[in-house]
Amino acid sequence: MLIPSLPSNEAERLHTLHELKILDTPLQSEFERITRIALQIYKVPMAAISLVDQHRLWFKSTQGLDISECSRESSFCAHAILQDNIFTVPDTSLDNRFLDNSFVLETPHIRFYAGYPLRALNGEMLGMMCIFDEVSREIAESELLYLQDLAALVESEIYKYKIVDSYQSIVSQLKQAHLSSMVDPLTQLWNRKGLDSLLKSQLNECKKQGSLLGIALVDIDNFKKINDTYGHLIGDRALKNLGKCLVNSCRKYDVIGRWGGEEFLILIMADTQKDIEGVLERLRLKVEKLPIFYENKMSFNLTVTIGATICLPNQRFSYETLVDKADKALYIGKNTGKNCVRLSI
Ligand code: GH3
Ligand code: MG
Ligand code: MG
Repeated sequence: MLIPSLPSNEAERLHTLHELKILDTPLQSEFERITRIALQIYKVPMAAISLVDQHRLWFKSTQGLDISECSRESSFCAHAILQDNIFTVPDTSLDNRFLDNSFVLETPHIRFYAGYPLRALNGEMLGMMCIFDEVSREIAESELLYLQDLAALVESEIYKYKIVDSYQSIVSQLKQAHLSSMVDPLTQLWNRKGLDSLLKSQLNECKKQGSLLGIALVDIDNFKKINDTYGHLIGDRALKNLGKCLVNSCRKYDVIGRWGGEEFLILIMADTQKDIEGVLERLRLKVEKLPIFYENKMSFNLTVTIGATICLPNQRFSYETLVDKADKALYIGKNTGKNCVRLSI
């Protein structure tokens, strides 16, 4: 394996990347959408938006890959950022740089790679918009140009993201290390600590705007049995895919996090109780249709029970009380057949 060298302007490049404060941020539907489109355009099983940090490659979004970061040394993208254009490896088994790479020899068995550079506004290279396949591929140069379009979309999302988003106020105040302590590494969603801060700030925001806040606990049904049947790694994959499904099904100003174990917490701002109930019922139905793949393209489905409560703008409940009420509703849902939405006001 050939260790990638460092770009000549590495210090400036890293400074620009860190200034963006995008590393270790939670999953966002805008970026998920782009990697999903990449799979469809190229009919590949894997796609990623990678950012090349000092010693690691961190993924803002992945499809078909079960990792959220890897070492810089073993990555394809660290080689790719050394040049200025589309970077392709049609067959990794014929390329001295990669033929003994662990990602080639072991899961996910990468045989084909193509990536287009992602650049900051000042021109510094941040990472790659890339696609992978388990089989060698020759893709015509004209077709690879769509990767350039996808990379341009990623770049504009990175800059749009800097100025909008409900949680951007929190992100911008945090140091890198603090931010990563608020994100769950498996699902790339806010963890309990992150949710604690966000719940407080969303409650204030709802009071200011005079809107309702729905607080919902989403608990996977019979998850222990899923682990027992398919193994812990597939259980982890189910948690990760469910997290993606929730992010992709909610609006960008809703907050989604992992409350713990196989339980997720969602905060939904809305005008009416009916709106919140509608969102939660839609989520439940979406989860029912989400396939979790385990081997040879075989899959199973999950169901979830959702317990929720609603905070009115004039109510002064503490967030602990609200989560408690959602938990009571969840308990009722679990005892009345599961795979349902229950509300406790
Ligand atoms: P119920 O429908 O009543 O919620 O049943 P359940 O089996 O989902 O709930 P239970 O609390 O009995 O079991 C939860 C399981 O979730 C047990 C635990 O091993 C599993 N779990 C918690 N965290 C993780 C994780 O990070 N990965 C995996 N694979 N499993 C996890
Ligand atoms: Mg549970
Ligand atoms: Mg459960």
